[in-house]
Amino acid sequence: MKSVVVLGATGSVGRSTLNVLARHPDRFRVAALTANTDHEGLLAQCLETHPELAVLVDSDGAAALEAGLRKAGLKTEVLTGPQALVSAAELAGADVVMAAIVGAAGLLPTLAAVKAGKRVLVANKEPLVMCGGLFMSAVRASGAELLPIDSEHNAIFQCLPGGYRTGEMPRGIRSVLLTASGGPFRDWPLADMGSVTPAQACKHPNWSMGRKISVDSATMMNKGLELIEACHLFSLEPEAIRVVLHPESIIHSMVEYADGSLLAQMGQPDMRTPIACGLSWPERIEAGVASLDPIEIGRLNFQPPDHERFPALKLAESAIRVGEGMPVVLNAANEVAVADFLAGRHGFMRISERVDEALNAFDGARSQDLDTVLALDTEVRHWMGVSPREGSA
Ligand code: NAD
Ligand code: MG
Repeated sequence: MKSVVVLGATGSVGRSTLNVLARHPDRFRVAALTANTDHEGLLAQCLETHPELAVLVDSDGAAALEAGLRKAGLKTEVLTGPQALVSAAELAGADVVMAAIVGAAGLLPTLAAVKAGKRVLVANKEPLVMCGGLFMSAVRASGAELLPIDSEHNAIFQCLPGGYRTGEMPRGIRSVLLTASGGPFRDWPLADMGSVTPAQACKHPNWSMGRKISVDSATMMNKGLELIEACHLFSLEPEAIRVVLHPESIIHSMVEYADGSLLAQMGQPDMRTPIACGLSWPERIEAGVASLDPIEIGRLNFQPPDHERFPALKLAESAIRVGEGMPVVLNAANEVAVADFLAGRHGFMRISERVDEALNAFDGARSQDLDTVLALDTEVRHWMGVSPREGSA
């Protein structure tokens, strides 16, 4: 019996994780659940799973959560504040931590889970983008097991040789092909992209996801972040990774070997597949995902990405090539610009423009120690117009 902590339990990945766990009460027990402000959602999840610890960052909501738990006769301990996320991540007795918080807010708890030597299932890509080097050395030092849940990285992991551990340089690899759907605006007339609304940007053709990653998919910054994520997880140079548009989201990524073999992982666009894979690896368990029928699909398509339409991809490529603090600048500027777009403060095309402006304003020549990364993250958010008290890692 493995006991599991779900960071970001009320989100899209968090809910899919609980869905998979509920199918295997003989294998998994929920040890702790965390959320930001959704106390009602977290209460409902606690009533179903009876964790020993529940963390709600928002203190007012935490009081309501505690009242609801006591009313139902549950003994679940309730903690509040960002530091409590770290307590959940390093919970004694927990074997597996699902990192499914969105954005830089997941950095410290995910790193704490790694340092505590857990099996860490990483959906939350932003911390890896900000300081992947630091993560991978913490993995080596603690002996933690880091398994990628982002569907592309999970696909790459599945296509690597048996026994491969993340962070190692894979042998015999020619390249990695990172597939991208192109999001909702792949075929829109370029002239109409200026008037995109948040609701349109959040309506992904193939995947149902949280709002921030949905906007990232629409700008294709998501693929840029994933390129950086892949460099760290699989010890690859950016030149070894090629982004390929694949509108159907059936092939989740591919690995090309020196002998000319091209291995692909296919499946329905349903996060329960990579989540179940990470939970049970190297075994396989039922995830509730429908079979994929190649005859029904009929045809798969591939095309190159359109860099005029999606400038974010090149911005991410240049940030990882320069390295050091540049991915921190890229990520922080993007988080602020996406939040501003979602709040109706500016248009869709301004997101990539503002990220570009931030990359030009900072030289990013910083070391990769944690304090420097966090300070740069705060500095960039401040430069983008966020007051120092508001969200940063
Ligand atoms: P979401 O917005 O649906 O959920 C986010 C979760 O994080 C919620 O539980 C929320 O309460 C919590 N959270 C938000 N801000 C927080 C803060 N400041 N402190 C503590 N908790 C906070 O997001 P999602 O779509 O589930 O994505 C989660 C992560 O997984 C993201 O990094 C995303 O890029 C990655 N990811 C998601 C998918 C997907 O299909 N949704 C696929 C691949 C990768
Ligand atoms: Mg992905």
